[in-house]
Amino acid sequence: MSVRELVVLGTASQVPTRHRNHNGYLLRWDGEGILFDPGEGTQRQMLRAGVAAHDIHRICVTHFHGDHSLGLAGVIQRINLDRVPHEVTAHYPRSGQRFFDRLRHATAYRETVTLTEAPVAADGVLVATPAYTLEARRLSHPVESYGYRLTEPDGRRMLPERLAAHGITGPDVGRLQREGSLNGVPLEAVSEVRRGQRFAFVMDTRLCEGVHALAEGCDLLVIESTFLDQDEELAVEFGHLTAGQAARAARDAGVRHLVLTHFSQRYAQPEEFERQARAAGFEGELTVARDLQRVPVPKRR
Ligand SMILES: [Zn+2]
Repeated sequence: MSVRELVVLGTASQVPTRHRNHNGYLLRWDGEGILFDPGEGTQRQMLRAGVAAHDIHRICVTHFHGDHSLGLAGVIQRINLDRVPHEVTAHYPRSGQRFFDRLRHATAYRETVTLTEAPVAADGVLVATPAYTLEARRLSHPVESYGYRLTEPDGRRMLPERLAAHGITGPDVGRLQREGSLNGVPLEAVSEVRRGQRFAFVMDTRLCEGVHALAEGCDLLVIESTFLDQDEELAVEFGHLTAGQAARAARDAGVRHLVLTHFSQRYAQPEEFERQARAAGFEGELTVARDLQRVPVPKRR
């Protein structure tokens, strides 16, 4: 069975705490793993969460602040140490190429794995596979930052009662799916659109067009909420979101499951993020992320 879930490796902004590691998130999407924003300590968090280097096929870095990227050095070396049998592709803002170069070659090690560099320089599609299309959108932060969005292509769900009404059974169903029609019965008459699932990763940013575009219609949205609403001025100044801002954006975008993360160490009460997100009118499923938590992509409607 295919697994689609988020494994939370770390949830702290800027400074880790006793209970929160720096950022790190692995999205399992069928047979593939996408590692987002590996901060310092990600390699050890992977071990604690049961994530292996072999599970990583793609790495997406939103921006080159340490809490989102200092873990690259360790993770890349571990991928090579473990001789991961597949190619790994890395996406990150092209303007930070010199940081990526340094992290990739921070110390000596034996390179055994093909690591493809696919930097991002503008909004748009990065890759399209049968399982998903991955795109990037510019965010608003003091250093160049991109959010990422995964969209599964729409499929079709066969409707048994309609098939039966047309007397289509057995191998003819497969033929109809392949050929688009059978004995004058078009595929559309016996099936309906199955909407592809959508996931987005939004970090670090002020409210901007990119936030709304990334969040639109997401089944699962991971978004930073560094601050609580009473510190909105700080959020705007430093290029971050509050719990209320993130939740309103998710509400307006029709998000089904909202994951808040990237918390400032100044707050000791995670419940307050939940309270403010609800007060902002978000009514879907809500997770105030904890390290090592697993969040399944919601079941199809
Ligand atoms: Zn950050």
